[in-house]
Amino acid sequence: MTNERRRALVELRVETLERIQRYEAHQHQRRDALDKDLEEQASEIQSDDIVDLLENEAHAELTQIEKAISRIDAHEGELCEVCGEVIDIHRLQALPYATRCNECAIL
Ligand SMILES: [Zn+2]
Repeated sequence: MTNERRRALVELRVETLERIQRYEAHQHQRRDALDKDLEEQASEIQSDDIVDLLENEAHAELTQIEKAISRIDAHEGELCEVCGEVIDIHRLQALPYATRCNECAIL
């Protein structure tokens, strides 16, 4: 289970990095294209805000994925980072980057 989970996390990390690169490419295009009409600019600014949000989310996810990987490498990947109890296996299967048990995740 641990090896499988680690492998899934490494894949997820690659996917998340690719997603961040796509968001960043999108944001660079915007800065190079300021000669559009105002209406076009306005609708682009809106979608840029969404991309910013998505990018922030992806960064947070990446941080969480990396934390989960380093906890696995430290042989504490199955333990809750808050209370130290074993995290439910079903939770880890559903959320491979979870580092908290069900109870501590709600707090
Ligand atoms: Zn806990």
